[in-house]
Amino acid sequence: MKTAIIIGAGPAGLTAAYEMNRIAKKDWKVVVLEESSEIGGISRTAVHGASRIDIGGHRFFSKSQEVNDLWGRLMPVQGVPSKDDRLLDRPCNVVPGGPDPEKEDRVMLRRRRVSRIYYLRHFFDYPISIKPATFLAMGLVRTWKAGWSYLYSAFFKRPEKSLEDFYINRFGKVLYSMFFEDYTEKLWGVHPSKISPEWGAQRVKGLSLWKALLNVFIPKGGKKETSLIEEFIYPKKGPGQLWETLADDLRASGVEIRMQSCVTGVESSEGRVTGVVLADGTRLSCDAVFSSMPVKDLVASFSGVPADVAGIAAELPYRDFITVGLLVDKLAIKNGTKLKTVNDIVPDTWIYVQEREVRMGRIQIFNNWSPYMVDDVTKHVWVGLEYFCTEGDRFWTMTDREFTDMAVGELRKIGVLGEDTPVLDSVRIKVKKAYPAYFGTYSEFGKVRAWLDGFSNLYCIGRNGQHRYNNMDHSMLCGLEAARSLVNGTGKDAVWNVNTEEEYHESK
Ligand SMILES: Cc1cc2nc3c(=O)[nH]c(=O)nc-3n(C[C@H](O)[C@H](O)[C@H](O)COP(=O)(O)OP(=O)(O)OC[C@H]3O[C@@H](n4cnc5c(N)ncnc54)[C@H](O)[C@@H]3O)c2cc1C
Repeated sequence: MKTAIIIGAGPAGLTAAYEMNRIAKKDWKVVVLEESSEIGGISRTAVHGASRIDIGGHRFFSKSQEVNDLWGRLMPVQGVPSKDDRLLDRPCNVVPGGPDPEKEDRVMLRRRRVSRIYYLRHFFDYPISIKPATFLAMGLVRTWKAGWSYLYSAFFKRPEKSLEDFYINRFGKVLYSMFFEDYTEKLWGVHPSKISPEWGAQRVKGLSLWKALLNVFIPKGGKKETSLIEEFIYPKKGPGQLWETLADDLRASGVEIRMQSCVTGVESSEGRVTGVVLADGTRLSCDAVFSSMPVKDLVASFSGVPADVAGIAAELPYRDFITVGLLVDKLAIKNGTKLKTVNDIVPDTWIYVQEREVRMGRIQIFNNWSPYMVDDVTKHVWVGLEYFCTEGDRFWTMTDREFTDMAVGELRKIGVLGEDTPVLDSVRIKVKKAYPAYFGTYSEFGKVRAWLDGFSNLYCIGRNGQHRYNNMDHSMLCGLEAARSLVNGTGKDAVWNVNTEEEYHESK
């Protein structure tokens, strides 16, 4: 019996384990090593009191039928309405014969995506749509300036040397400074003038003012950009529930999952990985490794790495992330839409915050993701405030109390939470390497990949495992492809080719 070691119990690692177990159970023993004590990686759901919070809300959406089928097998879509839909007598797109979310836990909910931009104390559609309410919220002078600057950019194109040029060429300088400049800098900690234009091409492809204008005249039908997806599925108790369910199934079918097992060393001989070493000194020998740990850490775990490869990997950039969960009775922002919600809270699943005086990036409203994420959806609003930071910076080193006070202060400052509304409960969660970034030494990543690919039985999978801005489904596809590549003896190209298609799934 051969042993396959899988580093990381996130979507990539667990899916690789699933596929190995499915196609090669009789020849391969599968061992998953997870550094933390939680299943799901960045897609985990943390439990706080009687509520649950994601590391940023996680939509389940995929163009891959295989991924959709796997999700459906693990957690079937609801057959009857969920708690909030029942309370509101709201129509819900259920699958006849599916489970009842009020009675069963292993169930996916069908949710409606509502996400808007909050700016100038008003809501704007996301992506921006051309309609009277947009102009009213922007004001006459700003609208006038935005229109002229857009026209100017339509005729006088800049050479596209940076992400800033990319945005200005498509939206004009005024709209760029309103909706892209500050948010991009918040997210990456780098001004858009210092980021490569290819980044924009990948992330906001297909979105432009022309499309927005076309939508005014042809609002429905035609091929919809996937960035405008309006419905998604979501596990009753958050994304982590799906990964915990998969982990339970894997354990039951013989896969070993070792928690609090951080890989710090990788041993190799003659172009093959022969074993891994854990932080506590334990050595495990193996016949193949699937790694979803960050490339930076993986390379540092080897000895005898060529100096240029070690240097590039050591300097790969990441952006870290902090979320703060707040439990309150009510928000100060009003539901000005026709969408019905419990207690008439705003209907958004998440809100992009463009107000320049705060550092908050997005607000998640978990009541709208799933009523089962909140201790009592009829009484409380459970929000998640998102901040982007860099490990060791001012945000990262603040105490939980200081950070939470700052976040609550920001929420009050922009009028989302009333000055007198008390915060009933809070939690702060810090996440390292939430975003692999595409600047700095990333331009030389090919050398690192080529060196790692030199180990015939080592497969790099997943978001940080490939240093690629993956969604869950991409990470899963990496896991599936890697298992097949190992078992069938095909090359690694299919693994690296996941998520390299031109058209992107989501725009943030
Ligand atoms: C704010 C935010 C919102 C997002 N929203 C969505 C969304 O709406 N939809 C979507 O599909 N995706 C979303 N994503 C992306 C999604 O979280 C990731 O694509 C997914 O979690 C990646 O899975 P993975 O297995 O590749 O990596 P990870 O989730 O990072 O899992 C890697 C695992 O490896 C473990 N590990 C690391 N180093 C070691 C080591 N040395 N030894 C042992 N274990 C180790 C980690 O602890 C972790 O459990 C979002 C991400 C963020 C940050």
